[in-house]
Amino acid sequence: MKKGFKILVSFFMAVAMLVGISNLAFAEPITAYSQMINANNLNILNTQARITLTQNAPSATFAVAAGVAGRVPITVVAPATGSVTITSPGGTSDANDPALFNASGTRIAFQNFETWGFTHTVPAGTTFNGFIGTGGNVARTFIVNSNWSAAQPSNFIWHSDADRVAFWPGAVNVYNRTLGAVAPTFNFNAQITHARNQWSNALGIPIGTATYANAQIQGFGGQRAAVDAFRGTGPSTWAGLAQWSWFNHATISVAGRQRTVHRMATARIFTIDLPGWTGESHRRMSTMITTHELGHALGWDGHPPRVAANDQDVMWWQAHQNYSLRQTEIRHLRQIYDFYR
Ligand SMILES: [Zn+2]
Repeated sequence: MKKGFKILVSFFMAVAMLVGISNLAFAEPITAYSQMINANNLNILNTQARITLTQNAPSATFAVAAGVAGRVPITVVAPATGSVTITSPGGTSDANDPALFNASGTRIAFQNFETWGFTHTVPAGTTFNGFIGTGGNVARTFIVNSNWSAAQPSNFIWHSDADRVAFWPGAVNVYNRTLGAVAPTFNFNAQITHARNQWSNALGIPIGTATYANAQIQGFGGQRAAVDAFRGTGPSTWAGLAQWSWFNHATISVAGRQRTVHRMATARIFTIDLPGWTGESHRRMSTMITTHELGHALGWDGHPPRVAANDQDVMWWQAHQNYSLRQTEIRHLRQIYDFYR
């Protein structure tokens, strides 16, 4: 079998904040995330409102209005991956001191002169049912925080030669456009469809299509000269290329090394219609390259370790003709989407 020796190139841009400013969801300080994630399923229920914390809003206040005396029911459901704290701000000790009671009415946390406020922790995977009590004369505010920092799963694996990985926090849609005259066996739209289906199944998320302006990922495939002209660079030598920008999201330790998790902000991919390839082998290899580059655009940074067992991975650094994702390369990215998205 003829084998491709074309290097698959990928790189990221270090100008994430500049390209992301048009999206308000990305405007927050990038250092604020390391302990504030994965609270999507965290619900705080009370008699006044239902509050849902998210990774972009990991903390919420729980207000008890003035005149509400006695005990206000509170239910906190902590996600399986992180504990939750219920806090009352400090202040002088007086008759309006807030306190937390369990379901049996026993006071378990309270503000006093020594502590100036209280914090009660709801362990990961548990539900707290109880009451917040106040004196009723003044409004009181309680704060509920997610505390995810100690909750990294112990079963993370690592299958990349890079120490970075990323995920898309919201919708993922792909635009595609063919550049220049291409061979009959180079159907970029079909390649993109295959790649979307592969990764959608692999990550357990919908990956749709969108216009150029609305797509999170923009894909271009075609004749090398046309791709080079479109990009304004060249002459290029690669078979596929991915470019993206992202934001720092978390630092994790996997297999004894520090790794960083990022939130994707923008991404573009390119696939070249390679001269000298025809027929089914051309179709398969072009499809593999596009599926590979879409993997980068979805957050798969780097390539599998260069050992023979991995040389049929779609994320392998050289082009070949297997375009079906394999289990370990799937798990490498799926675990990030499952945990952080
Ligand atoms: Zn690559």
